[in-house]
Amino acid sequence: MVTDRFGRHIRYLRISLTDRCNLRCVYCMPEDMVFRPHAEMMQDDEIITLFRLFVDLGFDKFRLTGGEPTTRANIVELVREMCATPGAGEVSMTTNGILLDKLAKPLAEAGLKRCNISVDTLNPERFRQITRWGRVEDVRQGILAIEEAGLLPIKLNSVVSRGMNDGQDVVDLAALTLEHPWQIRFIEMMPLGGLGDFQQAQIVTEAELRSTIEAQLGPLGMLNGGKLDGEARIYKLKNAQGDLGFISSVSAPFCATCSRVRLTADGRLRLCLLREKEVDLLTPLRQGATRAELQHLILTGIWQKPWGHGLAENDIAANRQMSEIGG
Ligand code: SAM
Ligand code: SF4
Repeated sequence: MVTDRFGRHIRYLRISLTDRCNLRCVYCMPEDMVFRPHAEMMQDDEIITLFRLFVDLGFDKFRLTGGEPTTRANIVELVREMCATPGAGEVSMTTNGILLDKLAKPLAEAGLKRCNISVDTLNPERFRQITRWGRVEDVRQGILAIEEAGLLPIKLNSVVSRGMNDGQDVVDLAALTLEHPWQIRFIEMMPLGGLGDFQQAQIVTEAELRSTIEAQLGPLGMLNGGKLDGEARIYKLKNAQGDLGFISSVSAPFCATCSRVRLTADGRLRLCLLREKEVDLLTPLRQGATRAELQHLILTGIWQKPWGHGLAENDIAANRQMSEIGG
């Protein structure tokens, strides 16, 4: 079992498969985002090699992210190879859902466990504003496709931003749980990269969101006695089929129970989403490092995993955009 110096068991790896995306969400990347050259990115065989090293170290929870993971060529083959690795545990994906209409079934057949789909509003015009050119109808088709493909339970992620989607949009998303057994998760915007100033001003707290929802849809009952389910605090509307999660990474951080590290699309082990510290795994891999040497790098890196973010001290990680790390 891999532990850090604070005694946290680390067994969950989020892998960014690409820094590229078919959308440009305003809080995630600039419109004129410059992507890294293809040669700097992990190639398919390098992803699988590193993936298997983590499995051998006891990691049993993996999430594929990006950029947009479904835009990666060979995504179905990559998922198949990962899921066929003995001991791999659960491999799931976070996606904007735009391409799932065609990919949900092949991904499910390749062994993918679940998808989290990101959707910040059901309003077509506002969705276009937030994503700069996306169509919410494509996401709706993607959600139906994963439901049909059996990639369950369905979780929808919604980043809430002040003045953008913190009113009726949140209520409409929450109301989906009355009809569907889905979990809608509201995520506080996190400051990162050059977009830090913009993002911090836009943060809407969990308490504000709950009172907006309760004003229109009635009281929310707390589930799990308030204990976190993963990183989310879970509530339910009366007679709802699904539930609501609040992920308050900024106002109520869950660092004490963090079990995750991240692999960036250019093969760096990112020890905390909101800290700059990384360990380069791709360069040694390309220079012929042995499995034992790579595992040593991973273990010593994880031992040094920072306790948590430094937002209270105004320490904002500036070396990467969210799309390069994968959220
Ligand atoms: N493209 C995929 C998607 O949108 O689901 C996967 C990558 S995206 C970076 C992963 C998650 O990070 C999404 O749910 C997205 O909304 C969220 N995200 C992006 N920028 C964020 C920010 N500044 N604060 C909080 N969440 C953010
Ligand atoms: Fe793309 Fe996801 Fe970032 Fe939106 S949040 S720009 S969909 S990577």
